[in-house]
Amino acid sequence: VIEIQHLSKSFGSHEVLKDIDFTVNKGEVVCIIGSSGSGKSTLLRCINLLEKPNGGSIIYNGENILDSKHDIYGYRTKLGMVFQHFNLFNNHNVLSNCMVGQLKVLGRSKEQAQTVAMKYLKVVGMEQYINAKPKQLSGGQKQRVAIARALSMEPDVLLFDEPTSALDPEMVGEVLKVMKELAQSGLTMLVVTHEMGFAKEVADRVVFMDKGVIAEEGSPEQIFNNPTEDRTREFLSRVL
Ligand code: ATP
Ligand code: MG
Repeated sequence: VIEIQHLSKSFGSHEVLKDIDFTVNKGEVVCIIGSSGSGKSTLLRCINLLEKPNGGSIIYNGENILDSKHDIYGYRTKLGMVFQHFNLFNNHNVLSNCMVGQLKVLGRSKEQAQTVAMKYLKVVGMEQYINAKPKQLSGGQKQRVAIARALSMEPDVLLFDEPTSALDPEMVGEVLKVMKELAQSGLTMLVVTHEMGFAKEVADRVVFMDKGVIAEEGSPEQIFNNPTEDRTREFLSRVL
């Protein structure tokens, strides 16, 4: 679906991403792991153009979306994003959170937006909370609503940036369970995570980032049981 070529990003003189190459294929679940500061969030933010890369290409549907003439707006509606801190609209109820983007960005009718929102609120098990405001929900429930909101836009790829890192431990499981079900349903997912169990069990491919480069990538078996790079081994020995 998305092919990244020679992507680079600097903040001032600090080169945060260096010549990143990788591909996300349709239906694939790719987990990105790595130490704090290795550039994982910056990579996701470059992919959905929340940050402007300094160089390289992002090929989507055969076109480089970093070409100035390209329709960035259309591309961004095809990517969903789930953040660590939910980023829900606090003044909107659960149902409305899942409808706003459909109405404003996709131009769907109210009826259609509501039908789609209800469909995905059921998928994440939040359909009985449609009238609740975010502040009435637990962290795990908020994150499930954020996932339903992203799904309601029916994106080609769903990007997750540490979706469970801000949750109390007892709520991590319910969010990972929903993500696992989505993965099994064939959704294309790119997931930055510290949950090694999830990466091991659910990922088709694991990408290990270190200091702005992809140090190693491969199947979960390869990365977790047979890493070839010293820095991968060193990272895993710290987190496992
Ligand atoms: P974490 O696991 O802590 O979330 P990360 O792998 O997601 O880390 P990034 O957030 O991508 O890391 O940050 C990579 C580097 O880029 C860090 O050194 C960070 O300080 C720097 N950085 C990120 N965003 C900016 C910014 N807007 N301006 C300046 N420096 C930034
Ligand atoms: Mg990050």
